[in-house]
Amino acid sequence: KASRMFHPEDTIVEVNGIRIGGNEKLVVIGGPCSVEGKEMIVHLAQEVKDAGGCMLRGGAYKPRTSPYAFQGMGTEGILALAQARKQSGLPIVTELMSADKLDEFVEHVDIIQIGARNMQNFDLLKAVGKTQKPILLKRGLANTIEEWIMSAEYILSEGNPNVILCERGIRTFEPYTRNTLDLSVIPIIKKKTHLPIIIDPSHATGDWELVEAASLAAIAAGADGLIIEVHDHPECAWSDGAQSLKPENFKQLIQKGKAIANVI
Ligand code: PEP
Ligand code: MN
Repeated sequence: KASRMFHPEDTIVEVNGIRIGGNEKLVVIGGPCSVEGKEMIVHLAQEVKDAGGCMLRGGAYKPRTSPYAFQGMGTEGILALAQARKQSGLPIVTELMSADKLDEFVEHVDIIQIGARNMQNFDLLKAVGKTQKPILLKRGLANTIEEWIMSAEYILSEGNPNVILCERGIRTFEPYTRNTLDLSVIPIIKKKTHLPIIIDPSHATGDWELVEAASLAAIAAGADGLIIEVHDHPECAWSDGAQSLKPENFKQLIQKGKAIANVI
């Protein structure tokens, strides 16, 4: 079902009137790695919007490497995101880690993110495939393009056509960056499938100073969108501060992006 051979026209995933895919305008999603409180996310949503972002990201359920690290605000975080959505008008993207929270996500969330670590959680993929919600499917840390497409197939085959792929860097031998951004997936995914593809330069590089260059390269390579971590005080962020942009740098990145592509 993901194959371009059987479905030649591009899939366009529509989220509250925003169209993702099909060589339409570039979608830029911004927001913190983790929701850290209602005021924080409401304030940041407005900054993302003022900078030119058209959607808000923020994790409420966090897949952390260590069980002792902050695990996310859970339901309180989802409700804080819903408030930020109401006040800013920006649709929200947030990660679902377990199918037992699906009802909460269907009620409050605009795009359900499946994280890199859950790319092959097949029961979770089947569960979101039974909804009609847009799904942002991240590529696993060490998964091939073929495996990633098969994971998309799990969602599509259950009846949900609204799949957006997201490249977020893969593990290689190079320790200088957190992951290695595989930009070649953009033309490969566009050739092999009809699905939209967006790039996450924050997790791909792990370093805010590299995020702009990676983003501009992704735009030039034909990405349908970007999802970028933004925080007012990256040095105090509860997770992923080192790779988070301040709102002014996020704004500058969008301005530069406009020289390459049409941005929503
Ligand atoms: C995130 O988006 O904050 C995240 C945990 O991403 P990934 O699954 O790509 O590591
Ligand atoms: Mn993060």
